[in-house]
Amino acid sequence: MSEKLQVPRGTYDVLPQDADTRVALEATARRILEGAGYRRIETPTFERTEVFARGVGASTDIVQKEMYTFDDGGGRSVTLRPEGTAPICRAYAEHGMHKLPQPVKLWYLSSFFRSEKPQQGRYRQFWQIGAEALGSDDPAVDAELIVLLATLLSELEVGRVRLRVGSLGTLDARHAYRERLQAHLRDNADRLSEDVRSRIELNPLRAFDSDHAGTRAVMAEAPLLLDQLDRADAEHFAAVRELLLRAGVEHEVDPTLVRGLDYYTRTVFEFESGKLSAQNAVGGGGRYDGLVEMLGGPATPGCGWAAGIERILLASDGLPVAPAPVDLYVAFGGAQQRRAAFALADEARRARMNAQIELAGRSLKGQLKHADRIGARYVAIVDDETTVLKDMQTGEQFEVDAAGVVARILRERGMR
Ligand code: AMP
Repeated sequence: MSEKLQVPRGTYDVLPQDADTRVALEATARRILEGAGYRRIETPTFERTEVFARGVGASTDIVQKEMYTFDDGGGRSVTLRPEGTAPICRAYAEHGMHKLPQPVKLWYLSSFFRSEKPQQGRYRQFWQIGAEALGSDDPAVDAELIVLLATLLSELEVGRVRLRVGSLGTLDARHAYRERLQAHLRDNADRLSEDVRSRIELNPLRAFDSDHAGTRAVMAEAPLLLDQLDRADAEHFAAVRELLLRAGVEHEVDPTLVRGLDYYTRTVFEFESGKLSAQNAVGGGGRYDGLVEMLGGPATPGCGWAAGIERILLASDGLPVAPAPVDLYVAFGGAQQRRAAFALADEARRARMNAQIELAGRSLKGQLKHADRIGARYVAIVDDETTVLKDMQTGEQFEVDAAGVVARILRERGMR
């Protein structure tokens, strides 16, 4: 035997026993998001690299070191999507969605790729549910999105959730603040970690995320963007918070909340679960009013979030899972009955029953045992002349003409 092959590091198989939970999760997400008017979108698994370089921002960890980028064979650089917002903004601009009634509300459930160091809750291919609303800067958009994610996490039984919110102001305010922060970091460079010091020019905001003691002390004295918002931004933030409070969504204001993507403006938020350890962020997002324009579209406000499916599953106290019921199991004695059995399973499926047929050549006794194991409601034992129909719930058996099996089940079901 040759060496057994395994999945690449940081990836995993979704096996059938795990798939049921994911289907339940997707159904819940669809119900909540489509109920609020969000419609599904799917963008390609890879995009031109520029979408992320321009959109996510050249200074971010994602673009600096986490992207799977390759040549498409024709000298063009493409990248496996590390996140969903920039591709959706690209699609909005490409398809002229600004001509539709605004805001355009979209949701997705897709896999994403980041070359990160794998650990529990952090993978190189991972799945996200996300929602985006493009074309309105109304604070109700931000609040609605946050409430929808809170509802989703609550229905998915994600335990011990904490919501932090902040505001980064407009891009101009952020740029001015960035310079002030850089000056503060430069003045205190000798107390900073090596890593933070080397990124003062590139990405000073990330210094708030550091757990290095010296850096934390410097950051405790750092100027805060939230204290310096202009009036319109401060009013926007206050309106979002007011709507959250009215909806009963508890949250904390965190002036140091920094997300790892450059495109955010105004509102940012993050949900964490106390049930997770190091990788405790289950979902987050914010407003990105300049992003569509950066990707070649008209000036368009936007807001959205993404939540990690693996993290939701790790933090969930239990999702409602109902595997598809088996209405009929078609059993048969020998190869000469296979054709009739196959036809019966086919007929049952056309009548919209969930039907399975024996595919492993088990003995009749083995077939009945298997039908019981998979929870089949009826078993049809196909023979040359007649078919025996067994009700697995009551144990009753009927002899039925081969042509009448499906009709008989439909009639029996109608009676109960
Ligand atoms: P981000 O766009 O980085 O804020 O990611 C949004 C959400 O996706 C996070 O809150 C996590 O739940 C999830 N996530 C991000 N990166 C990974 C990863 N490498 N593996 C698993 N989940 C991830």
